[in-house]
Amino acid sequence: MRKNLKIFLFALLLFFSFAFLTNAYAAGFFSLPVSSSTPISAYFDLNPASGYIRDWTGWTGRNWIYGHAYDGHKETDYDGQEGNPIYTANKYPDFARTVYTYNYNGNTYPNGPVIYGTHIIISHDNTTYKTVYAHLKYNSILTWVGNSYNYSFQCAQMGNTGYSSGDHLHFEVRSNDTPICPYYNGLMP
Ligand SMILES: [Zn+2]
Repeated sequence: MRKNLKIFLFALLLFFSFAFLTNAYAAGFFSLPVSSSTPISAYFDLNPASGYIRDWTGWTGRNWIYGHAYDGHKETDYDGQEGNPIYTANKYPDFARTVYTYNYNGNTYPNGPVIYGTHIIISHDNTTYKTVYAHLKYNSILTWVGNSYNYSFQCAQMGNTGYSSGDHLHFEVRSNDTPICPYYNGLMP
């Protein structure tokens, strides 16, 4: 009986540690990659199978207004001006490490190819997450592969490089290298 009680208490402890950890992660794990007044122009498409998508409100079917998702969009777009600061999204001291940078000067819209243009990929060490910052201004990257920070820092400027129809940030969150919606998953502030 006493042994069973110990096992029970241990299981209880495990359960609460797990609940605490998951909660700590879920409650806005990331910080905004842009200044807080920056509107979202396109959300993550949670259900590509369903029509010319309206996963979130804002798309009337005729007018392009803020807050919609379009089919197959696996990231969040923030609308702004070239030169606006872009920040790494690490709110918690999780050691965001620059793992990839690419500097590209061109714009390929609308004839393709569909590419990120100038972009950065950050690995959030000790988690399953990576974040991608795309269509950045050419030559604006302020970090280098291997650099590691335990706080959010300005890593680049907003731009319109690659397959992009105007100045914006294409912000992508990947978990185990699969894109996920950081809003749907409660990871954003
Ligand atoms: Zn996008």
